[in-house]
Amino acid sequence: MIIDTHAHLDMEQFRGDLQDVLARARDAGVRYIITIGSDIESSRAARDLAAAHEEIFFSPGFHPHDVKSATEADYAEIVELLKDPKAVAVGEIGLDYHYDHSPREAQREHFKRQLELAREMNKPIIVHSREAEADTMDIIASAGLPEAGGTLHCFSGGPEMALKALGMGMYLSVGGTLTFNNSGALRDVIKTVPIERLLLETDCPYLAPKPLRGKRNEPSFLAYVVEALAELKGLSPEDVMRITSLNASLLFGMCGPPSDGEIVYPIRDSLYLNITNRCTNACVFCVRNSTDFVKGHNLRIKNEPTAHEIISAMERADFTRYREVVFCGYGEPFLRLDVIKEVAREIKNRGVKVRINTNGHALLINGERFLPELKGLIDAVSVSLNFPTEAEYKKYCRPQRKGAYNSLKEFVKRATEYIPEVTVTALAMPGVDIEECRRIAEDELGASLRVRNYDEVG
Ligand code: SF4
Repeated sequence: MIIDTHAHLDMEQFRGDLQDVLARARDAGVRYIITIGSDIESSRAARDLAAAHEEIFFSPGFHPHDVKSATEADYAEIVELLKDPKAVAVGEIGLDYHYDHSPREAQREHFKRQLELAREMNKPIIVHSREAEADTMDIIASAGLPEAGGTLHCFSGGPEMALKALGMGMYLSVGGTLTFNNSGALRDVIKTVPIERLLLETDCPYLAPKPLRGKRNEPSFLAYVVEALAELKGLSPEDVMRITSLNASLLFGMCGPPSDGEIVYPIRDSLYLNITNRCTNACVFCVRNSTDFVKGHNLRIKNEPTAHEIISAMERADFTRYREVVFCGYGEPFLRLDVIKEVAREIKNRGVKVRINTNGHALLINGERFLPELKGLIDAVSVSLNFPTEAEYKKYCRPQRKGAYNSLKEFVKRATEYIPEVTVTALAMPGVDIEECRRIAEDELGASLRVRNYDEVG
């Protein structure tokens, strides 16, 4: 599923063939489209389109180009439009110092007023900013982002603007410009933005992506942007569609996020198994503290699945697509050793590689003697050492069992006897001595080291 978070379907370019445009969007996997108002007429037209088409939602507001003609009566009507159940945001609002179609002072005043309106109506904002980075971010910062959040549409700013927006909790929205040959600087910025904070948009009829640049843009063309973003982020197109659609749903609420936790879920070319939400650590940086989702999958399960339930769920996956199956999820897999063994046997029967991502407390959990049982069943294990000292480990991982750090190291050492590939991971957090982690992993424990970003999960 793809969600086009910014389209101008009311414009004359779509008057002759909107039904065909929507049919092509459906065929391309575009499930929802938000059509955007820029003045009172287009906001009304957007509402009418949303009323006529199940897949269309709308966002009324005054574009900075058009604020010069916005009246008090128009504002009163925008308030009424925002009460429509299919009105999902206020916008597009903001500043455009490139064209200056409205005086800058008026642009700033109307931007502040619409920010206030969004707060009163509890709606997120869709922000247009062109050659006005500093003023845009200053106004949002001083007025305060509405609790419902917001996005910088068709993001074209630099790394500083991206950082400020992310710091405020905003999303960035990308479209056809990401595919342009001369957009290297934009791609460099977007590469650093977590995909959990990105949205897709066409801004159609404008900004058609390569190879259709120069043509009328339309929602079905988002498939090209999905490809470009997947390549940039090292993800599959399916990952990009799933994650950005969840992001859009969380911000605009046009469809609820998936409510049931998943026990089998794909990311890139790996199939992951979520067998428990329990853990023997309580890491301060654990993703479970802030969200139920990893790469667009809901991992908060109500009940722990049986081995049979996991195997049944795996049956529905196309194993030829996956390089490996990984016990991971939202907890410590070694809390369920019997399930690991039974499910791993099934996976090995299909000739697929098996990996376990673990906090390394397996000896404390299962006793000293279980490791030989994994021989031939598990091909790889990835152990979160995270820090080079016990003091740092205790401070940030907050283990619930005594001696966890030294037991983890012992587990790594012994695992190398029974598991072909043993990797230790270290956290690339400010102040962490990665070279010391490498020495521990390679010289002390006989494993290899992989460095992980602490804010990148999955
Ligand atoms: S070990 Fe992993 S699952 Fe457990 S608390 Fe730490 S980050 Fe979360």
